[in-house]
Amino acid sequence: MTDTTSGLEALLMQRSLTDAQLLDKAAEASSYRILPDATVIKIGGQSVIDRGRAAVYPLVDEIVAARGKHKLLIGTGAGTRARHLYSIAAGLNLPAGVLSQLGASVADQNAAMLGQLLAKHGISAVDGAGMSSVPLFLKEVNAVVFSGMPPYTLWMRPSADGVIPPYRTDAGCYLVAEQFGCKAMIYVKDENGLFTGNPKTDKHATFIPKISVDEMLAKGLHDSILEFPMLDLLKKAQHVREVQVINGLVPGNLTRALAGEHVGTIITAQ
Ligand code: ADP
Ligand code: MG
Repeated sequence: MTDTTSGLEALLMQRSLTDAQLLDKAAEASSYRILPDATVIKIGGQSVIDRGRAAVYPLVDEIVAARGKHKLLIGTGAGTRARHLYSIAAGLNLPAGVLSQLGASVADQNAAMLGQLLAKHGISAVDGAGMSSVPLFLKEVNAVVFSGMPPYTLWMRPSADGVIPPYRTDAGCYLVAEQFGCKAMIYVKDENGLFTGNPKTDKHATFIPKISVDEMLAKGLHDSILEFPMLDLLKKAQHVREVQVINGLVPGNLTRALAGEHVGTIITAQ
């Protein structure tokens, strides 16, 4: 399209920026996929990295092998240390924005560790401001590590229900995938995917191979394996209209998921 802005410009000059007609017009332009060949993978904090070497080393090997065929943006979760910080900070009556900063510092630590493990393979970790160099790293070595917490920090939009930041590393990694128009988003966690209940506490929980956002809401599973605001983000997505949650403790699962196989739970926008 050569001229998507005619008409839109007039509306932009005259209307409120949330005017319905203006929004319709602005959405007419087909959106651009910045990194359409890349896949974002999130390495869970509590579910994977906190387990240390037994969980992390095999995944490092899979990542190193996979980047021969795939372009990987590797985001990190925060996990148990962040939860400990949240409990102290919430006890001190500190606000969501401060907890968000604290959580980000733990995701940063995990990105630093994963980056050092991958260093000898030429794979670097970028810090927040380094996201602009992601295309260069992908071009040169097919992979890059980033810290998964979205950089809202003090500007985190507080939830209605308390001081825990609602947008954490599941959302942060997903937003990177969606904004860059990536090919896929894979969550590497410690269960086979989504179950009808938390498999750690409900031994009757059964596995759900594929489910839509609306079905998750209908089954009361909105607050389960992914941060719940993720479901809204996914439902409204333009590019990444499904995500897969896999068990990263099972060797080969990440490699298979990257190859497009269905090895965990696929959650779809529709
Ligand atoms: P991360 O390490 O990526 O932050 P989390 O620990 O936050 O991952 O989320 C994964 C955990 O979610 C699983 O280990 C599991 O115990 C829990 N969980 C809660 N409800 C469910 C469910 N319905 N199905 C699967 N896992 C669930
Ligand atoms: Mg989590």
